[in-house]
Formats: sequence, C-alpha cells, structure tokens
Amino acid sequence: MPEKISEGKTKIIYKTPDKDEVLIEFKDDITALDGEKHDILPGKGEINATISAKLFEELERGDVPTHFISLDPSKPVMRAKRLEMIPIEVVCRNLAAGHFLQRFPMFTKGEKLRMPIVEFFLKNDELHDPMLVEDHLPLLALASGEEVQKMKEITRRVNAVLSDFFQKIELTLVDFKIEFGRDSAGELMVGDELNCDSMRLWEIDTGEAFDKDVYRKGGSLDQVKDIYVKSLRRIVG
Ligand code: 5GP
Repeated sequence: MPEKISEGKTKIIYKTPDKDEVLIEFKDDITALDGEKHDILPGKGEINATISAKLFEELERGDVPTHFISLDPSKPVMRAKRLEMIPIEVVCRNLAAGHFLQRFPMFTKGEKLRMPIVEFFLKNDELHDPMLVEDHLPLLALASGEEVQKMKEITRRVNAVLSDFFQKIELTLVDFKIEFGRDSAGELMVGDELNCDSMRLWEIDTGEAFDKDVYRKGGSLDQVKDIYVKSLRRIVG
C-alpha cells in the first residue's frame, strides 16, 4: 500500500501518484458511543466499501457532487478525489429517531417530521460532537455562510435521491450523516462514506433495522454481521 495520509476509526486514507486523488481503505472495525464500544467484524470493510460505492453512484446519477471515482473490486478500497475535509457532520432526518428523540421527547419514535431537517455537529469526540447552529460555522471558521447554505441544499438533494432509491427496495431512509470537503478548486462536495454505519434504514413492511443500530443496541456480532450482509444484498443486489 502507498503512503498513509491519515487513519480514523473505520478508514485509512492513502496518497496516490495523482496529487488530486486518494485511496480509501475501509477497515473491519465497528465502533459506537464516540469510540467507547469497539469490535472487529470480519468482512465489514468490504461490505461498507461496496455499499458506499453503490450509493455514491446513485448520487452522481442524481447530479450530487461527490468525491467518488471508482471501487477497487478485489479489495475494500475506493478511489476518490482528494478533499480538504470540513470537520463537521451534517445529519438529515425524515423520521424521529436516535438523538433527535432524546433531545425532543415530545416526538414518538418513527414519527414523520413535517419536513426533512438538516442539523450540523462539530466532529470532536472529546466534546461529544456538540450540535452547531448555522452561525457557529463561520464563527468557528469551519465554512462561510454561503457554503453553509450550499451544504444544506446538497444535503436535501442527497436525501431526495437516496429516499427515492431506498423506497424502491422497500426500505425507509429514516436519517443519515454525511461529511463535506473542498477539492483543489475549492468546490464543495460530499466526501467520506455512505453505508449502514452512517444511516438508519427501516424495512417498510416489518420495521426491521438494516443498519448499525443493531450494534449500538447490543446485538451479538453474529447478528450485526447478518444485518450487514442482508443490507448489502438488498442495496447492491
Ligand atoms: P443520531 O444523531 O440520531 O445519533 O444519528 C443520526 C444519523 O446520523 C444516524 O443515521 C447515524 O447513523 C448518523 N450518525 C450520527 N453520528 C455519526 C457518527 O459519528 N458516525 C457515523 N458513521 N454516523 C453517524
């Protein structure tokens, strides 16, 4: 493997001979609770790389700018444009679930929100990823006011494209998290990954979770692996 640029909880980024491209290796690590819970799930890296590639392709077809270039078929590795990442998480919610319910217990689990909502969080495990209001982004020099509006617009488009895609395979997109970066020309685009680690997907008929909530809620590693394999089959075919 070439020279490492950085390593996170679930991915390693490598340099390529092209300075505007990177290789992203998806690890078999699975984590939750700001990294306090951690296990190895053999095969997870390949599943997540494959699902990410499929969903990025859907976004590209839907005219959403992303960093995706291609998937290496033999390894859990994706080729992508090199981005300067913005250290925030952008969450979009269609139904009430997860931390939204903890924050606003007047909603019931699974209640449809009147409109999809977009939230921003600072990526910082020590501070437990505090929620940001839009003005915090220029204040903390994370993004300009114009970029904040652009990120909201792109996130809503991601939601529309993916909700439509998942509905066709009988899954509801409850909520998801994406991350943004700027390419060498300063263009904003969706980076990072898109898979069952970063979204809630409920089967329309049964309400069964097809995502990482099974792990967060204490499911055995065998149960978690079953769900990831089921999701892969449903999403990629
Ligand atoms: P919540 O804020 O309810 O915990 O999460 C909302 C959505 O964003 C869920 O789909 C969840 O999977 C995703 N999400 C929130 N924080 C993270 C994170 O740190 N990493 C990943 N991969 N996804 C996250």
